[in-house]
Amino acid sequence: MRRIAVVGGSLAGVSAARALRKQGYDGELVMVCDEPGPPYDRPPLSKSLLAGESTEAEIGLLGEGETFDADWRIGVAATGLRPAEGGVTLSDGTELRVDAVVIATGARPRQPWPDAPAGVFTLRTLDDARALRARLLPGARLVVVGAGFVGAEVASTARALGVDVTVVEALGTPLAAALGNEFGAVIAGLHAAHGVRLLCGTGVSRLVGQQYVEGVELADGRMIPADVVLVGVGVRPNVEWLAGSGLRVTDGVQCDAYGLTGIDRVVAVGDCASWYEPAVGGHSRLEHWTGARERAAIAVSSLLSGGRQRVEGRPPYFWSDQYGRTLQLAGRIAAADSVTVEEGSAAEHEFLAVYRQAGQPVAVLALGHARSFLRWRKQLAAAPTAAG
Ligand code: FAD
Repeated sequence: MRRIAVVGGSLAGVSAARALRKQGYDGELVMVCDEPGPPYDRPPLSKSLLAGESTEAEIGLLGEGETFDADWRIGVAATGLRPAEGGVTLSDGTELRVDAVVIATGARPRQPWPDAPAGVFTLRTLDDARALRARLLPGARLVVVGAGFVGAEVASTARALGVDVTVVEALGTPLAAALGNEFGAVIAGLHAAHGVRLLCGTGVSRLVGQQYVEGVELADGRMIPADVVLVGVGVRPNVEWLAGSGLRVTDGVQCDAYGLTGIDRVVAVGDCASWYEPAVGGHSRLEHWTGARERAAIAVSSLLSGGRQRVEGRPPYFWSDQYGRTLQLAGRIAAADSVTVEEGSAAEHEFLAVYRQAGQPVAVLALGHARSFLRWRKQLAAAPTAAG
């Protein structure tokens, strides 16, 4: 392989480029990314950057002088892939000819109200964060639609900025799908303890306002006045450009447990990729920072070895910072048949809980308790069932 294209220049793409060079690839590298500026990290967009505690310069993904000796195509999108010819079509009319492709095009927010009035935001990019930040003024009324991770973090950051916050969640508790109802209720308590109004079990029927948003009408008829609305109802993988490529694309690019797509010399990583998970016997798309970073090295290893070298992944992991506390989960709770709080107390919003399947730990969840969590995470990674 003498010419490789990495499509998508954010966390998964940058991690893949770094891994390519680290693993000895010394051929040509083309980095294609449709965003206008240098790569940056997304977690601070809902946390320190939104809070004004870190600067844009501080959230860059590249180290000083780090370029991977690559040909960077910034502000250019890939619009098509023809694997048989090694062809990648770009939005500027160029046709790249390459020997291999790393697909790392990530995801974008779902927006059920594409024609929403001004003052309604989603949060994925630096531009989104800049625009939202400008509206989070003390006393402003923010309604967050969706109590997932991004919604909860924006609620937490906005409260600290003196904003009046209401969170609307269709399910019975926040983060019910990710943590289960018992611990979702703990997160609900955390919101309440910080003065956030949380309305669960109700959907949103429409956003009200002509030019500028004035409120959110709930499915049960209630009207919540709003000056700003953040819609945080999940993401969709950026995979439309792969139509006609022959890749299996469902909810993301389907891959095996090592990032291989089934088409020679094409691998996929990060939020756009749905990897096979041996531990659960099916495919899933992780939308977490650590997965995007670690799996890039696995996929690159598969690519460079022609699939002969198979590096096992660690169990999935994510963290989320809310109201001055760090929530962390490692492993797969779907596999569990029991869960016990082993340290602290859920009622006090400081705990560590272990999920087990047939008596064997399969996941660990903690709010605080960072040291014990790290010990448990290492133990999970060392367990034979951990192969991901
Ligand atoms: P992305 O970050 O989506 O990057 C994909 C890149 O590809 C983008 O630059 C996109 O513009 C570009 N692209 C798309 N289509 C094309 C195309 N056709 N051609 C060229 N380029 C294209 N995870 C955690 O574990 N903990 C957290 O606390 C946390 N906080 C988060 C907070 C926010 C506000 C957000 C948005 C995410 C957060 N995440 C967190 C998730 C984490 O940031 C993502 O999992 C990670 O960014 C995924 O990286 P990626 O490179 O796969 O995708």
